[in-house]
Amino acid sequence: MASELEPEVQAIDRSLLECSAEEIAGKWLQATDLTREVYQHLAHYVPKIYCRGPNPFPQKEDMLAQHVLLGPMEWYLCGEDPAFGFPKLEQANKPSHLCGRVFKVGEPTYSCRDCAVDPTCVLCMECFLGSIHRDHRYRMTTSGGGGFCDCGDTEAWKEGPYCQKHELNTSEIEEEEDPLVHLSEDVIARTYNIFAIMFRYAVEILTWEKESELPADLEMVEKSDTYYCMLFNDEVHTYEQVIYTLQKAVNCTQKEAIGFATTVDRDGRRSVRYGDFQYCEQAKSVIVRNTSRQTKPLKVQVMHSSIVAHQNFGLKLLSWLGSIIGYSDGLRRILCQVGLQEGPDGENSSLVDRLMLSDSKLWKGARSVYHQLFMSSLLMDLKYKKLFAVRFAKNYERLQSDYVTDDHDREFSVADLSVQIFTVPSLARMLITEENLMSIIIKTFMDHLRHRDAHGRFQFERYTALQAFKFRRVQSLILDLKYVLISKPTEWSDELRQKFLEGFDAFLELLKCMQGMDPITRQVGQHIEMEPEWEAAFTLQMKLTHVISMMQDWCASDEKVLIEAYKKCLAVLMQCHGGYTDGEQPITLSICGHSVETIRYCVSQEKVSIHLPVSRLLAGLHVLLSKSEVAYKFPELLPLSELSPPMLIEHPLRCLVLCAQVHAGMWRRNGFSLVNQIYYYHNVKCRREMFDKDIVMLQTGVSMMDPNHFLMIMLSRFELYQIFSTPDYGKRFSSEITHKDVVQQNNTLIEEMLYLIIMLVGERFSPGVGQVNATDETKREIIHQLSIKPMAHSELVKSLPEDENKETGMESVIEAVAHFKKPGLTGRGMYELKPECAKEFNLYFYHFSRAEQSKAEEAQRKLKRQNREDTALPPPVLPPFCPLFASLVNILQSDVMLCIMGTILQWAVEHNGYAWSESMLQRVLHLIGMALQEEKQHLENVTEEHVVTFTFTQKISKPGEAPKNSPSILAMLETLQNAPYLEVHKDMIRWILKTFNAVKKMRESSPTSPVAETEGTIMEESSRDKDKAERKRKAEIARLRREKIMAQMSEMQRHFIDENKELFQQTLELDASTSAVLDNSPVVSDMTLTALGPTQTQVPEQRQFVTCILCQEEQEVKVESRAMVLAAFVQRSTVLSKNRSKFIQDPEKYDPLFMHPDLSCGTHTSSCGHIMHAHCWQRYFDSVQAKEQRRQQRLRLHTSYDVENGEFLCPLCECLSNTVIPLLLPPRNIFNKLNFSEQPNLTQWIRTISQQIKALQFLRKEESTPNNASTKNSENTDELQLPEGFRPDFHPKNPYSESIKEMLTTFGTATYKVGLKVHPNEEDPRVPIMCWGSCAYTIQSIERILSDEDKPLFGPLPCRLDDCLRSLTRFAAAHWTVASLSVVQGHFCKLFASLVPNDSHEELPCILDIDMFHLLVGLVLAFPALQCQDFSGISLGTGDLHIFHLVTMAHIIQILLTSCTEENGMDQENPTCEEESAVLALYKTLHQYTGSALKEIPSGWHLWRSVRAGIMPFLKCSALFFHYLNGVPSPPDIQVPGTSHFEHLCNYLSLPNNLICLFQENSEIMNSLIESWCHNREVKRYLEGERDAIRYPRESNKLINLPEDYSSLINQASNFSCPKSGGDKSRAPTLCLVCGSLLCSQSYCCQTELEGEDVGACTAHTYSCGSGVGIFLRVRECQVLFLAGKTKGCFYSPPYLDDYGETDQGLRRGNPLHLCKERFKKIQKLWHQHSVTEEIGHAQEANQTLVGIDWQHL
Ligand SMILES: [Zn+2]
Ligand SMILES: [Zn+2]
Ligand SMILES: [Zn+2]
Ligand SMILES: [Zn+2]
Ligand SMILES: [Zn+2]
Ligand SMILES: [Zn+2]
Ligand SMILES: [Zn+2]
Repeated sequence: MASELEPEVQAIDRSLLECSAEEIAGKWLQATDLTREVYQHLAHYVPKIYCRGPNPFPQKEDMLAQHVLLGPMEWYLCGEDPAFGFPKLEQANKPSHLCGRVFKVGEPTYSCRDCAVDPTCVLCMECFLGSIHRDHRYRMTTSGGGGFCDCGDTEAWKEGPYCQKHELNTSEIEEEEDPLVHLSEDVIARTYNIFAIMFRYAVEILTWEKESELPADLEMVEKSDTYYCMLFNDEVHTYEQVIYTLQKAVNCTQKEAIGFATTVDRDGRRSVRYGDFQYCEQAKSVIVRNTSRQTKPLKVQVMHSSIVAHQNFGLKLLSWLGSIIGYSDGLRRILCQVGLQEGPDGENSSLVDRLMLSDSKLWKGARSVYHQLFMSSLLMDLKYKKLFAVRFAKNYERLQSDYVTDDHDREFSVADLSVQIFTVPSLARMLITEENLMSIIIKTFMDHLRHRDAHGRFQFERYTALQAFKFRRVQSLILDLKYVLISKPTEWSDELRQKFLEGFDAFLELLKCMQGMDPITRQVGQHIEMEPEWEAAFTLQMKLTHVISMMQDWCASDEKVLIEAYKKCLAVLMQCHGGYTDGEQPITLSICGHSVETIRYCVSQEKVSIHLPVSRLLAGLHVLLSKSEVAYKFPELLPLSELSPPMLIEHPLRCLVLCAQVHAGMWRRNGFSLVNQIYYYHNVKCRREMFDKDIVMLQTGVSMMDPNHFLMIMLSRFELYQIFSTPDYGKRFSSEITHKDVVQQNNTLIEEMLYLIIMLVGERFSPGVGQVNATDETKREIIHQLSIKPMAHSELVKSLPEDENKETGMESVIEAVAHFKKPGLTGRGMYELKPECAKEFNLYFYHFSRAEQSKAEEAQRKLKRQNREDTALPPPVLPPFCPLFASLVNILQSDVMLCIMGTILQWAVEHNGYAWSESMLQRVLHLIGMALQEEKQHLENVTEEHVVTFTFTQKISKPGEAPKNSPSILAMLETLQNAPYLEVHKDMIRWILKTFNAVKKMRESSPTSPVAETEGTIMEESSRDKDKAERKRKAEIARLRREKIMAQMSEMQRHFIDENKELFQQTLELDASTSAVLDNSPVVSDMTLTALGPTQTQVPEQRQFVTCILCQEEQEVKVESRAMVLAAFVQRSTVLSKNRSKFIQDPEKYDPLFMHPDLSCGTHTSSCGHIMHAHCWQRYFDSVQAKEQRRQQRLRLHTSYDVENGEFLCPLCECLSNTVIPLLLPPRNIFNKLNFSEQPNLTQWIRTISQQIKALQFLRKEESTPNNASTKNSENTDELQLPEGFRPDFHPKNPYSESIKEMLTTFGTATYKVGLKVHPNEEDPRVPIMCWGSCAYTIQSIERILSDEDKPLFGPLPCRLDDCLRSLTRFAAAHWTVASLSVVQGHFCKLFASLVPNDSHEELPCILDIDMFHLLVGLVLAFPALQCQDFSGISLGTGDLHIFHLVTMAHIIQILLTSCTEENGMDQENPTCEEESAVLALYKTLHQYTGSALKEIPSGWHLWRSVRAGIMPFLKCSALFFHYLNGVPSPPDIQVPGTSHFEHLCNYLSLPNNLICLFQENSEIMNSLIESWCHNREVKRYLEGERDAIRYPRESNKLINLPEDYSSLINQASNFSCPKSGGDKSRAPTLCLVCGSLLCSQSYCCQTELEGEDVGACTAHTYSCGSGVGIFLRVRECQVLFLAGKTKGCFYSPPYLDDYGETDQGLRRGNPLHLCKERFKKIQKLWHQHSVTEEIGHAQEANQTLVGIDWQHL
């Protein structure tokens, strides 16, 4: 039990340190039995080094192991000091030209889409950047760990296999050279010895299964009695379960438990207890008991400590081997040799075999160590790679079976190495021919899916959990098959043919088990009770899709193979459906004198299956026969005569009929599983080997049989035979008015059948079916997708089928068919169809879903209308069929077809008597159109000797024969042309008639029937006129209707809230277009406007009326009226901070009176500018609060705002707010007394104020000590002489109404509460300071934004900003009236003392540590509290002016002290001016006062320049401040952008243009003040270089610089490891865009406690870096994250775009991403404007799911 109390660090055994590696190695060199010698050494020392306590000490262990264990081996191997030996080896080595860098988790990898043999061939970043592929089309992904760089592997790349680095000496290594030639015999022998012993030792100990006994040769004499309770990882139990169990079982804290669980998850095992056997056993039983309630208990073993010690060293040894072979390819070869050498037990006894075969028994950590070793040894050696591949293939079945039953992820299994071996084309080929790999993989796969139905087909229904689990895992075998097939052979040997065909046989066996699986029967009456299982079958189909395609590609590359495969496939299909008649009695069908025999089969009554992979493979091979022309070259070798077309078409036809019936609603009772199956059948992921091939199979069948027969069989399968074979059946059918449903059903079925015929004739874009190539096929797909709407690149990619290399072939053709439109600031780039491609549009394109079809139809008609064309969408001209399919076109002119067309047209003509539909007619018209196009084509391409056999025009001109004598199709069309109920189809019918005439003309080359034709045209002409008029009338109606709708819309838009919502949701855009002019006061004609001081421009009083958004009542803003308020949001801010490491430590004690110039903790106020009555707002807020309480009780839902913290949404614009600002008139006017006396100058004023302050301080002291000796007091009172006119007992009356006073307090308290993060306390003396501070900070932040954007200071500002600044300034100026007078006076005194020192304030900051603008605002706004007691006649304006001048001078001194002019070596431009000599003189004075500590005097020109530049921000802020304070309009000059306006600002602010004049005018007092400032200790320290100070102008803060190429960010993040868990890779590395810190986000390891809650690294970071607000980039996801507080957050679109103008959130597509500067600026702007929180609010309101995310854990 005492073990846990043992000292953590034990003294290191002396004997260990005394070991000499050299001596030991020397002993080994002499040894006769080296193995015994080494083993004894290990047996003795390993347990002394490893596992000496409950916790591992990796550093100490590694150090000792190197010294005692590995050191001797290195000496032995080198035969000398390894410090010299290894470099020698390295030098002699001819480095391999393979890179082989093993990827870390999260590292970026690159694959070239142009040159990589397959997508698994990847490069590391370094190689990629040095390769030719960086200029190709490439894909970037982040590695999941494992795998290595393929640079240098000539088999992996079609071109450019070497990067610059690995290209070196490739010419020399033309032929394979034995790397051993570079090593001496001795080294070889010794290496061999030591490798053999150590490798064997490692394998032996790692695969050792006994728990308390060591292998005999390692057993020790004296053995300690310590054990470990070892916990192993599994994938069944969750983190939480493990943590909970451990706390119970070993009595540890939660933190320790988390530590254990993390290690178990990472390394696969961790000891959780150390001690005697009993002690460990006890913990084991608790863990097992606690976890056995789930499927299986956690695996725990009690192991003797020496076993664990040896195992730990075994792992160390393997890594050591891995690093030693890095020195020389020769050493590597020896290791490979040792590893693959067969042991004494024969087959499978080599060390490599032994490791592989016990893979699933090893823990995660051990597996990854030896996998890494395999990768850096066996897979890096070309010779042994082959041998290893053979071993791997021989063990394949066993390894896969182990993997399937193991529960670890694939990446931790040795089976996963298949990707490294099988994707090497030469190895794959060798393994196929020599090891029969294809058959092995397929058979292994089949062995794991033994559950079959009565017909031997797979059955997934009622799978147990275990079977389902196995099924999931066994799917990786399909991936292996894919790897093997991925590169097609260029040359075939007879062995390859034989083995491939053997594999093909196995594959057919597999497909046979799928043919007809999951059959379904139509449910009638009852709805099905349980949705049948369907997903497993489709998963299988989907996984196999590419394999099936690749099998066909392989067959296509060799004629012999193709012929054999075709025969085999046909044979298997015959086996499946040999007796397809199923013993049914044949029935005979006949129409139009044709008759055919078929079976009686109804899809709606019997079993039918969607899975027909054998038929579909045969269809694919059949097309290949045509494409490769084997069908014409070797017809005698093909079993064409054995083909039975009816048998071929039967099952695909059933499947298509099933789809039609489902669409007709006949299978509704079969539930969703069927709907899903039909969906996937057509889906882009499956259709290539499902739906598409069924169409091909029908085309194959039709091309080999009489089309009349085919059509009759089809009618019968569609269950429509009766309708078309019985004359007038339709009429009877409808007049019976049977079931409306049935009519509808039949109509749909007829439509579907016609659609199918259109597809059979029209779909000839697969190479081999039609005379086209693959490019044509892709082009056509794209054209049809873009016919629906313009699409982004990724959308388009998703709609196209991908091949096994994930390519769609789109890029090569897209330019030919589409234009690219670049994206703007939002949205993405779009492809638009080129207009000339519209003629290739086919309304009945077979890959359209129904919704897409109708959208495309609408879009195309609209386009035609826009181009003022008729709206007919005739079938496009098609490419000719290949000869094998050529006879297919005859279906169009077959008798049965004509009969069907005629019948339907007849129904349309007699439109009231029959059940028919417009869609039906539309399809018939399309078919007729197709036939006409076909005939035209035939006529155009006819050669002399050929007779055109396609005579559709003739056939449709003929009237029906007796006895019916129905009119000809042509006649019926002419009739229909004028049918009023067919308006939509009129253009199409006219197109048909026109084309008919054209074709007829072509046929009858001599003009035989001109009459008929003119007739036609006349008819056409007149009808066209009529049409025009009609269309005009319709257009008019449409226009009127549109206008009406528009009117309604604008009525709706007038609705108050909606309108404003739109208007105000626009964020703080400082844009002229959206903003109002700043000044609403009347223009004062006087051009010399002055904002402050006794000569301040007097603005006539203006009455202001505002409307409450809640009650809509209008009210004037007056001092004594009810308060009006603006919704406002106060937040802490670090946006302007120059020191992010600084934050308020203890808010209760923090003194905010002086703002440091680093502006580190500001309080920002913003407002949406919406005005309410204070009482209306109060009522609104109360109701929000009440509603929220109810809601929380009921639903426990969160909202985007925190009511408990006073947050609410503006009732108008839903902008996040947390308080309100009262609306006030310029407050100074109320207190400004008349100027009735001479005003003092600065010196006099300072004296007066100093006296007043002295008096106040005296009185204050007296008040605070009332009980003191009264005599003393009275004495003092005598001493005190009150300055003239000063009445400290006077207390002015507060002019504001109660309601305004209340709001002043409300906002003041809110600013205090938020700014300091404390509980509200309206009495706190810091409340007024916070109000002034927020005013100053907000003005500064707006000044920054304007300067950064080069906007003029008083240019047009959005109303909300203008309103906010005005209200905030006036509020801050009025706040003193609700605060304690003496408190405000106290603040004033202290602030004043910082510039004009007096005795009672000593610990004040020096002028370098005061932000002068904050000081100015504080002084000016506190001053009335003093001035109100002064009746000597000094006006408020005078005080303002003097304060301003004083602070300005202090700022100039600040700037001069901190200026560093030496670095700008610019030359003086102008001759010396007045300002320059003045500033030089001032500088000299300074130099004197600082005891020459100030730097040598630079030129006056430079000084003046830096003063001007440094003071500009201050002047601008001051101008804004006084403008809003006093309401003086801004001079028009400053309202326009352009020059710096320095002079204008000075005039407006009542400053001399030569600022230095201020000093000269007041030299009397200023000299003494400057002296006192310079004598400060801190100033001295600064000048002596002991501390730093802020320089001016302060630069604007920017978000960090992001690299142009996103992958360098990924690379940066992949090198980042979690700071808390010792070198572990972080799973979600996240970059702070404000300060550039990388954080380990969303992970247990980096959670910290903040205010009593566990928060993730990001949230914790926001508190120090952004005072609660954060902007991050999640690097793995390529996603921007906004955080505010603990509960708010949203994702924002990243500033990285691919070449197609799209972002890739989640990095799913892997296109190269580049920085979009504009988008990044937009994010920066949000930050500068303090709009991040608001943005989150809007995002959360728009998307409620964001509210539920645990943002604080990120
Ligand atoms: Zn590389
Ligand atoms: Zn390379
Ligand atoms: Zn390339
Ligand atoms: Zn109101
Ligand atoms: Zn609002
Ligand atoms: Zn940061
Ligand atoms: Zn971490």
